[in-house]
Amino acid sequence: MKVLKFGGSSVGSAEALRRAAAIVREELPGGGLVVVSALRGTTDLILEACAAAGGGRPDEARARLSTIRERHREVAGGLGLLAAVEAEWEPLFTRLDQLLTGMAMVGEATARSRDAALAVGETLSAHLAAACFGGAFKEVRDVMRTDARFGKARPQLAALREAAAPWREALAGGALWITQGFLGATVEGHTTTLGRGGSDTSATLLGEALGAAEVQIWTDVDGVLTADPSLVPGARPIPQMSLGEAEALSAFGAKVLHADSLAPGGRAGFRLVVANTLRPGASRTEILPAPPRREPGTVTSVAYKEGLSLLRFPASEGLEPPLKAARRLEEAGALRFGLVSSPAGTLLAVRPDTPASLRILEALAASGPELETGWAVVALVGEGLRSDPLAALRHLATLGQEPVGGLLTGSSTVSIAFLVPESRLGELIPRLHDRCVEGLRVHPKAG
Ligand code: ASP
Ligand code: MG
Repeated sequence: MKVLKFGGSSVGSAEALRRAAAIVREELPGGGLVVVSALRGTTDLILEACAAAGGGRPDEARARLSTIRERHREVAGGLGLLAAVEAEWEPLFTRLDQLLTGMAMVGEATARSRDAALAVGETLSAHLAAACFGGAFKEVRDVMRTDARFGKARPQLAALREAAAPWREALAGGALWITQGFLGATVEGHTTTLGRGGSDTSATLLGEALGAAEVQIWTDVDGVLTADPSLVPGARPIPQMSLGEAEALSAFGAKVLHADSLAPGGRAGFRLVVANTLRPGASRTEILPAPPRREPGTVTSVAYKEGLSLLRFPASEGLEPPLKAARRLEEAGALRFGLVSSPAGTLLAVRPDTPASLRILEALAASGPELETGWAVVALVGEGLRSDPLAALRHLATLGQEPVGGLLTGSSTVSIAFLVPESRLGELIPRLHDRCVEGLRVHPKAG
């Protein structure tokens, strides 16, 4: 049994949906499960509508709702499926309207009411995809049991597995079902969401609960690439990689898969495939639970993330202040990339991704530690580094780049990361890629 997932851009237009339908016919001739995101841009529009409604600007909220409705009708119309979905869609538009009206009346958009509104996006799209793919719509909230952390809910695996038992049976019997990504429900039946970009995670969690042999993530690139193609035009798809490599890549900035989406594959052992909706016959990446063989020292990919800030704490203060700062920043939504301590002092590298974490960072800097902005983390990733980690240092040494703040190695030994000024990325990443990424054969289908 296979689970296929299509992201927002893969279901964002009539043309894209037609392409997705052809892929479903090809990949799931004997049935299976398809998970879809909301149509491209819809989640952002709903969030803007909620913010407007909660901020006392109901007209603005209503304008967003009209845009959502028009765009959906246009896509369905382009497929000749407007009549087929209208009966399912109208109550959903009405519900979104009512939720926004409620938020405007209270003057507040809580995380819980936002999740209820967001659910409309994925549900609209799943109904359309069901009509377009010739499958049946199934409500994911019947099975995706989560805790009540609205906005970033955590799945409850045992409950999910139990609820999914009837799905397992029907899908094994050849059913073709289409369901929503991103959404879940608490045991009381309140709608939750798994966090932005959470549909990948929905697909892998469902794959795990259903005992799927394979989960395919259909996106707009030819699989996982050896580097960011905007900096490295010659970046190539990686035909096969280990789950450990994929985890290191998403941790250090590669955008192709959501970091949370990888754990289910590790637990369940299914094959995870990343493929391109625009070029279904082109290369794809298979992410395997057991690592493919790699030459010692081989680096399979180079990842980076910019926008990092460094906080330097004097040695005299000990470890308590940097640890406390790291915790506060993370709780406020910052991503931590390094916390390195030596007798000479402690360095904390974070990316303040939310306004709250930025405020904390500035407050911290005003009270002692030195703050520097404009840094990036660069990571070399490869199973080959397990047996020869020093290979990464040899590569670095040839580039005249001193790693700042020491090397950042975590518990994973398939990656070596270091900090560089953001301004060097454009020159450094292509050179690192040229130097380090070797020993890969391009997938025969890549042409
Ligand atoms: N529609 C949601 C988002 O835009 C979930 C997803 O696309 O994965 O974040
Ligand atoms: Mg996505």
